[in-house]
Amino acid sequence: MGLDLNLKNWESRASKILAGGVTHDSWARRPFPLVYSKAKGPYKWSTNGEKFIDLWMGHGSLFFGHGDEEVTQALRDQIDKGTHLAGNHTLLVEWAEEVISLMPSIEKIRFCASGTEATYLALRAARALTNRPKVVRIDGHFHGWHDEALVTKEGTLFGQRPMSNDFIEVIPGDCLPSLETVLSFKNVAAVILEPGGGSGGSLNWSKSYLFELRKLTKKYGTLLIFDEVMSGFRYSPGGVQALCGVLPDFTTLSKILCGGLPGAALGGTKEAMEVFDTSHPRKIVHSGTYNGNPLSSVAGLTTLRKLRDGHNQKVLDERAIQFSKEINLLALKKGVDVRMISNSSIIHLMAGAVRNEMEISPSTNVVLLTQHYREAYEGLRDALSWEGIDMHPTHGWLSMSHTDEVIEEILKSFSRVFDDLREVPFFAL
Ligand code: PLP
Repeated sequence: MGLDLNLKNWESRASKILAGGVTHDSWARRPFPLVYSKAKGPYKWSTNGEKFIDLWMGHGSLFFGHGDEEVTQALRDQIDKGTHLAGNHTLLVEWAEEVISLMPSIEKIRFCASGTEATYLALRAARALTNRPKVVRIDGHFHGWHDEALVTKEGTLFGQRPMSNDFIEVIPGDCLPSLETVLSFKNVAAVILEPGGGSGGSLNWSKSYLFELRKLTKKYGTLLIFDEVMSGFRYSPGGVQALCGVLPDFTTLSKILCGGLPGAALGGTKEAMEVFDTSHPRKIVHSGTYNGNPLSSVAGLTTLRKLRDGHNQKVLDERAIQFSKEINLLALKKGVDVRMISNSSIIHLMAGAVRNEMEISPSTNVVLLTQHYREAYEGLRDALSWEGIDMHPTHGWLSMSHTDEVIEEILKSFSRVFDDLREVPFFAL
């Protein structure tokens, strides 16, 4: 036995050795996932030479598209100076200073290796600081794949630590009275949420809700954690907290933070971050081989400097609104039950919304549709892929490399997809 390394077909090689055929659940596809060989700007190519317009954009980490010249040059320069210095380094300091200057609530920071790690660390820090056991999460908000991030109202998942549920309370996002009831027991260390609308912006968000949340958490001595992994630096240079003026105790960051390279961070007020000081009576443990890696630092720093004044974010938000409008007009004209919404520069598809008479805007309906019509979404993804668009089945990210000309190309692909979908009973109106 042994691997046949002469096999030309990358897809078949991958499927033989990658568990479940992939290395991220949402990359799985029927009949098999493609294998990609390179990417540049808004495009990427499969090993078979097919060219795709990429709407994944590194899961939202590539604000300027693939292979941004400045980021690439900064990475080249750094490679010669070392890829792991096992200690504080100059870029790390500059990166931390840049984040702190942009994010209104952050005074101190710790870097880690992924968004999942950052939210895990935030919960640990909050429990240690308050000496309380429970954490409140908002239904439908995503915080990664550690046990506590995966607790749902429905119960535990396969393999999940059974006790996880005892310490996580999942409550609806629109119900402040039920939150106050939970907080009034004074055993809740923190409330964690995606302030920019959960599920990557499928859900709506409001300043007044965040403001009330801050008031309630303060009243009951509970800490507030904004998970800005998705919204940080995208919704504005200072994330949602800069837009709404509500300051959390802790903030988790990733994606754009590292300019397309791996990494993440937990930031917080000076007071909250004291829990990392050796002098703190409940000092928490935090380590990690790749924390603050120089390559992630330089890619992140270069990217964040380009995003400082907020101009690019505004351009991209406007482009997402316009793009969604055009998709919706096209779908209306072609008589197809697909609609698109945007939240900042993240786009979400709604399949079946028209027949269910749903409003076309960020809401729990966006998530409900994806759960209810899984097969239809997969079909839509396949159809888009045949027409040269690679996209998560439910959502995507625009980047600065998706210029008006590229958007025009995407619209043409969608137009051909809609022509085909008219023949499919689920989509035909
Ligand atoms: N939090 C939010 C809001 C996210 O969107 C994600 C990932 O998409 C995570 C946490 C987890 O980050 P990672 O995939 O880096 O573990």
